[in-house]
Amino acid sequence: MSQNLAHPAHILVVGGGTAGWMTAALLVHAWGATGTRITLLESDAIGIIGVGEGATPKMRRFFQQLGIAESVWMPACNATYKCGIRFPQWSTRPGYESYYHPFFTMSDDASIRAFHHNVTLRQHNVDVQANPDWFFLSNWVAKKRCAPLPDPRSHYQADYAYHFDARLIGDFLRQWATARGVHHVVDTVTRVTQLENGEIGGVETEAHGAIGADFFVDCTGFANLLTGKTLNVPFLSYKPWLFNDRAVAMPTPLESPDSLPSETVSSAMKCGWAWKIPLTNRYGNGYVYASDFIDEATAERELRGHLQLRDDAVEARHLKMRVGRLERSWERNCLAVGLAQGFIEPLEATALMIVQDTVEHFIASFAGARDAARQRAGFNDKINRIYDSIRDYIQMHYKLNTREDTPYWIAARENPNVSDSVAAILETWDNGGDLLAEITRQRDRMAYSPTSWFCILGGMGRFPRKPKRATGKHQAVDPSAARKQCMELLRYFPDHRQAVDQMRQPEEA
Ligand SMILES: Cc1cc2nc3c(=O)[nH]c(=O)nc-3n(C[C@H](O)[C@H](O)[C@H](O)COP(=O)(O)OP(=O)(O)OC[C@H]3O[C@@H](n4cnc5c(N)ncnc54)[C@H](O)[C@@H]3O)c2cc1C
Repeated sequence: MSQNLAHPAHILVVGGGTAGWMTAALLVHAWGATGTRITLLESDAIGIIGVGEGATPKMRRFFQQLGIAESVWMPACNATYKCGIRFPQWSTRPGYESYYHPFFTMSDDASIRAFHHNVTLRQHNVDVQANPDWFFLSNWVAKKRCAPLPDPRSHYQADYAYHFDARLIGDFLRQWATARGVHHVVDTVTRVTQLENGEIGGVETEAHGAIGADFFVDCTGFANLLTGKTLNVPFLSYKPWLFNDRAVAMPTPLESPDSLPSETVSSAMKCGWAWKIPLTNRYGNGYVYASDFIDEATAERELRGHLQLRDDAVEARHLKMRVGRLERSWERNCLAVGLAQGFIEPLEATALMIVQDTVEHFIASFAGARDAARQRAGFNDKINRIYDSIRDYIQMHYKLNTREDTPYWIAARENPNVSDSVAAILETWDNGGDLLAEITRQRDRMAYSPTSWFCILGGMGRFPRKPKRATGKHQAVDPSAARKQCMELLRYFPDHRQAVDQMRQPEEA
């Protein structure tokens, strides 16, 4: 195995889901010109999971670094813009029944400061408006169904992410990567072979016989064929922190061809939550739930009711989720990426962000590898911190819920299993401490910014119950003024439907 080289000679990526094709695309982009051969092997008999339609802003950097314009990939994937995520019904606190997790940039500096000022006052028991929805332009852009593409005359820079069809994005990346030299093999692996030193030597397939390589990427999804089943890397379950282990998914039509939302909506349900993701041609919906609290049939019925589907004509897909992570993503001559590596329930749509992080860190680590074992340990530690810290942020949604309607929500709130990080954040916040200082203290292990932490704590209304009236000395920010500023900027944002349709036109003309 050529670990003393700057890159391997032949890499075999096993698995052709979104993770496999994103990996192949990044690898061929980084190493294709240096002579590294990349083969991607996938099984058409097994297929892909076919869900995973929301992203984080990091996905912008993915396409930018590959030099793929939005006007090229978005129409091909029925993709839409995503300004943020709305969370209705997670909290029952008056004024905080819904909250929006915005994407923001330096242009939002003044709004962030205003929100921070008010939320800190409210944390200290002063009665001021502290729901982030009032302060962030991104919320209003989403509410008005605009695209986050402001006219340059506004001098405003927006950040955003995307929604896309999970199957079409794989197809798109396959075409892109194979056109750049990635060799594509469709076959099923029947056995993984190991060398005497324990490294993976190759795979045996049904139709193509043995296929060898000197480095392997395990993108086999929940099957986890190489790192888990062959190299026996232990799996750390997140079940003690996060209860949800199932999902049921079904598409629905858009309400109108003329209007297109630009946000994900993640509504609390009886034993979990439901996503609603707008694509250019349909909604993707799903209910993520805990099988310890609700069975498959009841969950499906509840989702149908939530979507107001009156008959059973729309087929439901039921999925099991292995929630947690491998103890080591990079083991010997094999890297696990995607669902094979780990999975945190999709509440903040972070899975593909971790795919990107993993492959980018791997490329950087491998190139600099002098002491391979040390390099791997440092890499694995970094990836594990990303996973654990996202798990913590996701768990915070459950810790902050105030619902009393089912045992699920009460158990999630009262769950004693929290990391030291979450415990310290809650303690600091509840005692009127300096949350910014606490998050700064923890910054080496934080995947989310201080603003996101303030947004979730403020947005879900975790405040003292009987606040004192604000007086002049508090200099509270007037939320109507904050809102007015947002409204003034809003006129620079185009309608979302028109923006995505315009992107299609040159191709279709
Ligand atoms: C309910 C749900 C909702 C989600 N929502 C989001 C979201 O909003 N945002 C997000 O970023 N992520 C989301 N995800 C995660 C996202 O779906 C995955 O991260 C993404 O699709 C990548 O999956 P994958 O490529 O790792 O695995 P898969 O898509 O399962 O692909 C596995 C591949 O391995 C191949 N394979 C398996 N065994 C063999 C074998 N023996 N021989 C040959 N090939 C084999 C299969 O053929 C397939 O090509 C969600 C996941 C779930 C379960």
